[in-house]
Amino acid sequence: MNYYFHIPFCRSKCGYCAFYSEPAPASDLIDRYLDHLERQLAEHPLPPAETVYLGGGTPTLLSLPQLERLFDLLRRFLTAGSDCEISIEANPETLDEAKVALLRENVTRISLGVQSFSAARRDILGRRCGDEALSRALCLLGKAGFPHWNIDLIYAIPGENAADWRDDLIRAADTGIDHLSCYSLTPEENSRLGASFAVDDELSAEMYEMIPDILAPYGIRRYEISNYSRPGSECRHNLNVWRGGLLRGFGPSAAGFDGRDRMTEAGNLVEWLAGAPPETDRISRPARSAEIFAVNLRTVGGWTPELWAKVPSADPWEARLAAVEKVRNNMPGSWWKISPRRIKLSDEGLVFWNDIAEAMLI
Ligand code: SF4
Repeated sequence: MNYYFHIPFCRSKCGYCAFYSEPAPASDLIDRYLDHLERQLAEHPLPPAETVYLGGGTPTLLSLPQLERLFDLLRRFLTAGSDCEISIEANPETLDEAKVALLRENVTRISLGVQSFSAARRDILGRRCGDEALSRALCLLGKAGFPHWNIDLIYAIPGENAADWRDDLIRAADTGIDHLSCYSLTPEENSRLGASFAVDDELSAEMYEMIPDILAPYGIRRYEISNYSRPGSECRHNLNVWRGGLLRGFGPSAAGFDGRDRMTEAGNLVEWLAGAPPETDRISRPARSAEIFAVNLRTVGGWTPELWAKVPSADPWEARLAAVEKVRNNMPGSWWKISPRRIKLSDEGLVFWNDIAEAMLI
């Protein structure tokens, strides 16, 4: 089982973000969140964890004792083998030496939300993190030696040019990371920037295409549209989720998947604390198969018959080959790379994943 914990607290709200989080929460609100999480975890025995992902929000906004309590809850209620992947998202300005030491003891991956190495561009994004805090966090994480370390970057920020983006990529790669996530700035509609901002598609495409060549000397290559890693350092949690793996979500707005239905926990803290039940999204089995198939086409490796056979709602591999043949007639053949043993998108096809996914959904 894969577990996702949504920790819905942030220092302040970034201008492009539509994830659910409470800005500047009072400490006792976080304690109430942990109390309720404990009650939920204690409700039923939970299947062994293959991966655990602590996301948000900003999990590292929790104080040291609150983080200690969170890890204690995980140890008490989840069974995790020695190869369990445990990931946490962190923001630079929330880290100090003691927190980094605690995280190093309790997680196998850390994902640092840098977004940009330019203070001016972070400012545009509404990221309240100064250069000094960023340098300190990078230094602490570099010394700590986590088994896996990701940095998140955003590109096509207003005023940014290709040289700026190249500089950001090199600065990230030079830290010694083995994983990088790169997202084009696309403010969500209900975010602060969303109302005022138009994406420069041409610049965004140019920056996307620059990434593999800049990262190649570091041994980091694309394995999903927005994700890059050294071989073997891919995020197992995300790969499992993209491939239709079972997912149990805890915390407001957390998503889950039981092999057939998707569930979403109550969308805000007040309802979640009051015990509101999750919403269930039930669609037909063929529609669910098509959806999972489309999602994992975002990966460079795509699908093999063996991977597909593990999907709980999978139809026969031959049916997938037939479904692809059907949609392929209405789009450039160069978007696909198909053999009897693998279905994947070409580099060109990955750029048009949205169109391809839309065509595949039934
Ligand atoms: S981008 Fe991250 S840090 Fe910023 S508001 Fe959203 S969840 Fe919080």
